[in-house]
Amino acid sequence: MVLADLGRKITSALRSLSNATIINEEVLNAMLKEVCAALLEADVNIKLVKQLRENVKSAIDLEEMASGLNKRRMIQHSVFKELVKLVDPGVKAWTPTKGKNNVIMFVGLQGSGKTTTCSKLAYYYQRKGWKTCLICADTFRAGAFDQLKQNATKARIPFYGSYTEMDPVVIAAEGVEKFKSENFEIIIVDTSGRHKQEDSLFEEMLQVSNAVQPDNIVYVMDASIGQACEAQAKAFKDKVDIASVIVTKLDGHAKGGGALSAVAATKSPIIFIGTGEHIDDFEPFKTQPFISKLLGMGDIEGLIDKVNELKLDDNEELIDKLKHGQFTLRDMYEQFQNIMKMGPFGQIMVSGWIHTLCVCVCVCVCVLGLGLQCITDCFLGLFQGMIPGFGTDFMSKGNEQESMARLKKLMTIMDSMNDQELDNKDGAKLFSKAPNRIQRVARGAGVAPRDVQELLTQYTKFAQMVKKMGGIKGLFKGGDMSKNVNPSQMAKLNQQMAKMMDPRVLHHMGGMAGLQSMMRQFQQGAAGNMKGMMGFNNM
Ligand code: GDP
Ligand code: MG
Repeated sequence: MVLADLGRKITSALRSLSNATIINEEVLNAMLKEVCAALLEADVNIKLVKQLRENVKSAIDLEEMASGLNKRRMIQHSVFKELVKLVDPGVKAWTPTKGKNNVIMFVGLQGSGKTTTCSKLAYYYQRKGWKTCLICADTFRAGAFDQLKQNATKARIPFYGSYTEMDPVVIAAEGVEKFKSENFEIIIVDTSGRHKQEDSLFEEMLQVSNAVQPDNIVYVMDASIGQACEAQAKAFKDKVDIASVIVTKLDGHAKGGGALSAVAATKSPIIFIGTGEHIDDFEPFKTQPFISKLLGMGDIEGLIDKVNELKLDDNEELIDKLKHGQFTLRDMYEQFQNIMKMGPFGQIMVSGWIHTLCVCVCVCVCVLGLGLQCITDCFLGLFQGMIPGFGTDFMSKGNEQESMARLKKLMTIMDSMNDQELDNKDGAKLFSKAPNRIQRVARGAGVAPRDVQELLTQYTKFAQMVKKMGGIKGLFKGGDMSKNVNPSQMAKLNQQMAKMMDPRVLHHMGGMAGLQSMMRQFQQGAAGNMKGMMGFNNM
């Protein structure tokens, strides 16, 4: 995706600041030139790019600033702020109300991705526990109802439509009435798009809108038309009361920068983006996290949401076991499943040797009930810009698939283990006592014995960590760690973490001192350091 490229280029331009011995006008200009070139290449409007450059320059007074470090931070921060501005319409997006009927109507040109996106949105809310349904009010396009029906059936979402009724207004009204009476919370109405912005389309849109009185009208915009998005979004906005925008096809060759910045310029908040044809290829869009993610800083809020969704701290049985320092191969298997559930995010984190850390997040920390937010924040803080390959490859699909495959392989190996091995208090010992077990598992999983050995080594590290952590009093009380753990216990915990980590990671963090500072942040909790992290303080 072109946006991933953009992120990489801007990050590299910003890094050039850290490499420069002194920050002067020349260095600043060179960096800004690079940033602007990258934005233009991503199709962002030239006027907006110029504005960005001027804003950064006027915010930075090199003479006034004292130390080099401060300058770097201020400049990076200022660029970040301006990038956020590019995609931020400055309008709060509509959100549905739980326990109430929320009618959402989709509009947009034919082929923009309405029907696909309706299904994605329905699926998104359904997974979050909302009572969700779909209505097909497109009688213009042949096969429109079948398309929606197929998507809805696949995702087990109730739907409404008709093969015989030709009036979209009638279908929409009937469907909404039916689902309202059945207390559906999210009622999504798909409409026809026609081929171009013609009067009959707008007329139909208005009639459907009047009939169903939507709480939110979503305008679906195809990113492949780039900057032309602005004019098109404006044309629709003039006719109906569009409250939000979803930009689709950001996965393709579209230079997403054009669409995203153009739509933001219409003062319509983008609420989601579509990144593929599959029902899962859909992400909530929030300006700050989006830019953080683009620059490889991690989508902190997104990760927190995902970790929270897992409800890890509800798992009392596991917490009890951990308290007693027990951690079996099956526990590790279950944590891997959790990572898989986290979707692309988790999967990316598992890539390569980041793996150790990720599982460290999921197993040793989240599950221990230490307050999920601060943990995820801290670990992301540590990821930001520091771990090669994490930030820059954030959006590339290949990397995602590779990490997924890696995790699956580990799980396949564990699938070939028997209950005794999985549930043993010291699974690795069982294997070292009887090496033929390794042979058996390797054969069963179709991998080399070395792979099994590697998995066991990894497991041993985790198990040791859990054991040591189990010995730290107060750690398992849950809630706010800073209230439960005293400084000497904290120091112990730091040492344990250091031992767990890949030496390369530790090195990148600035060794033991870096780790300690991270753990301090960790103790202070999420709210405080979230902003700091957004502000590049780790770059
Ligand atoms: P509609 O006419 O507005 O209802 O558009 P459809 O939902 O039928 O989508 C038109 C085409 O765009 C279909 O082939 C979809 O699979 C495809 N499509 C929709 N959203 C995305 C997306 O985010 N990424 C990609 N690559 N294709 C998409
Ligand atoms: Mg359609």
